[in-house]
Amino acid sequence: MAYNTDMKIDTHVHVHPPEIQADWEKIAVYEPHFASLCSGRVHRWGTAEDVLARMKEDSIDVSWIAGFAFRDPGLCRLCNDYVINAVDGSGGRLKGLAVVNPLSRGFEEEILRCREAGFIGVGELFPDGQVFDITDMRQTWRLAAQCHENGMFLLLHTAEPVGSKYPGKGGSGPKEASKFCSNHPEVKVVFAHMGGGLWSYETMPEMKIVLRNAWYDTAAMPFLYGSEVLNAAVAAGAGDKILYGSDFPILDARRYEELFNAAALSKGQKRSIMGANALDLLERANSSL
Ligand SMILES: [Zn+2]
Repeated sequence: MAYNTDMKIDTHVHVHPPEIQADWEKIAVYEPHFASLCSGRVHRWGTAEDVLARMKEDSIDVSWIAGFAFRDPGLCRLCNDYVINAVDGSGGRLKGLAVVNPLSRGFEEEILRCREAGFIGVGELFPDGQVFDITDMRQTWRLAAQCHENGMFLLLHTAEPVGSKYPGKGGSGPKEASKFCSNHPEVKVVFAHMGGGLWSYETMPEMKIVLRNAWYDTAAMPFLYGSEVLNAAVAAGAGDKILYGSDFPILDARRYEELFNAAALSKGQKRSIMGANALDLLERANSSL
């Protein structure tokens, strides 16, 4: 169903529990992906309070927040606990995403625990950072099944297969993402950072079918693309599958506002990207129950 809403939803927001921030150097020793992101040039810390304050400034109605997807299931759990508390105290302004290591023992129970606390999705998971291969069904079937069974969508980090390297980029791009889609057509997946360009293959009739369960978020777009990418994705037929996501705290709504204005999107297109598509995704993820 198409939503006609002016609700503004930021679908890609990171929060860091204060304990993680305080101990980051110790954690970084055994979590190399976390270490590389934290020492990156654009890194910033953010708490749930920071998110709520920023939302007020930027007139964002709802944010979908997630902790950091560590390899260590204990650290994932700590992040999820923090998100549970933040969501509970937010009066509906924050929705939670669960972080798990999909190769760890017992991660299914952790997803279930988060679902029972009202979480709507799982992610942002880092295939390279957490060392799992999204093209290998032997490594993904438990994760896919758990998302599907619980009516949750999955948010996976992906990046461009071209261009310069940057901390956290990783090697999972459009090719790997499309393989995941064909392996798991039942799971609703958001590929972060415009799926590393995956949306452009929506112009292939064959791929349009494979990508039926794929969405793309705009996280980090001001660092990666010019505003034309939004027009191009809309022209490729992916306008109903683009979700506004800021990648807060490294970026916030002001940078996106400039980009969206430069793209000269219609009111309807902007409304879809800023919130309606996100509501549509949630409904579809839920109806797969
Ligand atoms: Zn990401």
